[in-house]
Amino acid sequence: MGLSKTIWANPSEIIRTKQPDHPVLVFSPEILQTTARRFLRGFPGLVTYAVKSNPDEMVIENLVTAGIRGFDVASPAEIDMIRRIAPGAALHYHNPVRGRDEIAHAVRAGVKTWSVDSRSELEKLIEMVPAEGCEISVRFKLPVQGAAYNFGAKFGATAEMAADLLARAAEAGFTPSLTFHPGTQCTDPMAWDAYIRTAAEICRSAGVQAHRLNVGGGFPNHRTPGPAPKLEDIFALIDRVATEAFGDARPALVCEPGRGLVGDAFTHITRVKALRDDLHVFLNDGIYGGLAELPLVGNIERVDVVSPMGVMRSGDTIERIVFGPTCDSVDRLPSELPLPTTLEEGDFLLFHGMGAYSSATNTRFNGFGQMEIVTALSLRG
Ligand SMILES: *Cc1c(COP(=O)(O)O)cnc(C)c1O
Repeated sequence: MGLSKTIWANPSEIIRTKQPDHPVLVFSPEILQTTARRFLRGFPGLVTYAVKSNPDEMVIENLVTAGIRGFDVASPAEIDMIRRIAPGAALHYHNPVRGRDEIAHAVRAGVKTWSVDSRSELEKLIEMVPAEGCEISVRFKLPVQGAAYNFGAKFGATAEMAADLLARAAEAGFTPSLTFHPGTQCTDPMAWDAYIRTAAEICRSAGVQAHRLNVGGGFPNHRTPGPAPKLEDIFALIDRVATEAFGDARPALVCEPGRGLVGDAFTHITRVKALRDDLHVFLNDGIYGGLAELPLVGNIERVDVVSPMGVMRSGDTIERIVFGPTCDSVDRLPSELPLPTTLEEGDFLLFHGMGAYSSATNTRFNGFGQMEIVTALSLRG
């Protein structure tokens, strides 16, 4: 076996050296660890990682190295992976709907924290999970606000039902807690405000003091050309509002970021296969591949164009329609992208901030989706 280079300097070096015709997702362990330490230092409580956003084992290992000790998991496969890589870590099974086989699996794996948003699923847990030392977090929702799309459409009890569920969980001998997920890519800290105040009202009307309040994921990553979102502003708002809303009964806080932790640690290299009649850009990746999320949350606007020589193209731009490689007509970016007038076939488009919901949801639809993941010291240049 020949020696191959495994750590690159930056994306341009990869482009100059490999001229990759397949999509390449470039990982910066340093950015991931720096972001993790920022959460650990700044968030006023326990930081757990939402595994679904990027379950790559390199990601999990680097998070553990940085000090992350808790994981939000949603399936037996995620539970088993975290148990293998980080045996001592806390597992929060926060998919509120589970089959009985999945519950049994999680009990055997020693899961101690569960979320629930309905009477039927709560009764299933009460029947199957030994209450001793176990926590049930009732997930509630509010009408959508501030998020890139509506998470409450699938999960979350109304505040009124949440109070009933909280009282029932406590009565059955579980440690009662509350949880919510404000949505994803919440750039406005106020997205958390009403949720935290509602959590305090739920406790009052249930007559139950919550042990912990999990404020979900939803922390934004850097997707627009301006400055990166200030995570510290969100941490400060959560801290202040939790004290205002709960006073002396303030529960311990937990968060479970996915995107906010891992998003900025990856840059995605794609290639222009064709510039059809100088109008339409056809990339070698699209919405069935690494760009799956863009139709849901909107384009990433941090895009650089690099020539095959590894040189950045700058100057005037024009709005271009960008298509993915498959024959499905929905395989296009949700809005036009401003790209340099000098763009040429064979150039590379670098989408920054692509660590979350990219490799995790990549498919092989239509024979595409051969994605490579490599490591680099820097994602700049
Ligand atoms: C997906 C998910 C998260 C992570 O969401 P991000 O927007 O990526 O931070 C956190 N908690 C739950 C329950 C989720 O389903």
